[in-house]
Amino acid sequence: MAKIGFIGVGNMGGPMALNLLNAGHNVKVFDLSEAAVKTCVDAGGEAAASASDAAKGVNIVVSMLPKGDHVRGVYLGDDGALAAADEGTLFIDCSTIDVATAREVAEAAAARGMMMVDAPVSGGVGGAAAGTLTFMVGGPAGAFEAAKPVLEVMGANIVHTGASGNGQAAKICNNMILGISMIAVSEAFVLGEKLGLDHQTLFDIASTASGQCWSLTTYCPVPGPVPTSPANNDYKPGFTAQNMLKDLNLSQEAAKGYDANTALGAAAMALYEKYAASDGSEMDFSGIINMIRES
Ligand code: NAD
Repeated sequence: MAKIGFIGVGNMGGPMALNLLNAGHNVKVFDLSEAAVKTCVDAGGEAAASASDAAKGVNIVVSMLPKGDHVRGVYLGDDGALAAADEGTLFIDCSTIDVATAREVAEAAAARGMMMVDAPVSGGVGGAAAGTLTFMVGGPAGAFEAAKPVLEVMGANIVHTGASGNGQAAKICNNMILGISMIAVSEAFVLGEKLGLDHQTLFDIASTASGQCWSLTTYCPVPGPVPTSPANNDYKPGFTAQNMLKDLNLSQEAAKGYDANTALGAAAMALYEKYAASDGSEMDFSGIINMIRES
C-alpha cells in the first residue's frame, strides 16, 4: 500500500481521499479547512501540518485545489511541496487549472527529477464519491503508468492525453463544447415553446436526429424528458453555473494565448457571466435556459 499525501480535501478531494483510505492506502491530508481535514482523519487519515508536510515521507502526492494560483502556491518555492518531497515522489494534480500553470509546475517537478501529471477530472461530486471519475492525464508515459493504479482507485476511466498540460487542455475543450451545447439546446427549447412545440415532442425528434447531444439526452434543461436532469429538481446542482464559467474562462484564456478562434466559446462565456452575476451562480448550469427564456 502506498503512502499518499493529499492536499485539498474539499467537495471533490474529500471523497477522493476517502476512497484511497478505503482501499487501504496510508493518507496524510492537508487543507486550509480544519473541518475538511477532520472528515478524513475520522476515516483513518493522518492530519498534516502544512502542504509541504503532506508531501514529506510519502510516495505519491495528490492535490485537488480550486485554481492555478493555489496550485503554484502549494507546489512552488522553497517551502513548497516539490522542495519538501523525498526523491522519487510522484505528483498528481487533479485540480482544473490553466494549461500554462500545469506546464510550469510540471517543468519545475521535472527540474527536480520528479515525475508529475496533470489529471483533471469529470464526473463531479457524485463520481468522486462513487470512485467513477474520468481522469484526463497529461505527462510523460512513465508518469502516466505510475499514476494509473492510484487513479484507478478514484476513477473508472483513466485516459492518457499526451504531454504535460494536455489533461487540462482536454478538460477545457470538452467543457467548452458542453457550455456551448447547453446554450444551443436551451435556445432551441425556448424557440420551440414560442412556436407552440411541446417539450417532449422536440426532445423525441432532436434526440434521435441531428440535434442529438449530451446536453439534450442526458441533461435536458427542461423538466420532463430526462427525469434525472437538474431541471426536474429546481436546477439544483449538479455542476454550478459558477464552475461552468470558471472552465469557459480557462478555455478563453487558452484561446487568446494560443491564437485560436473560439467565437462561440466567447459568446457562451459572456452568457454564463451574465447568468452567474444574476441569481444563477449557485444554480446548475442548465438553469441558463431560464435566463434565455426571460431575456
Ligand atoms: P472546494 O472548494 O470544495 O475544495 C477545494 C479545497 O481546497 C477547499 O477545501 C480549500 O480549503 C482547499 N484549499 C484551497 N487552498 C488551499 C491550500 N493552499 N492548501 C490546502 N488546501 C487548500 O472545490 P471542489 O469542488 O473540490 O473543486 C476542486 C477542483 O476540482 C477545482 O479545480 C474544480 O474546478 C474541480 N472540479 C470540480 C467539480 C465539481 O463538481 N465540484 C467537478 C470537476 C472538477
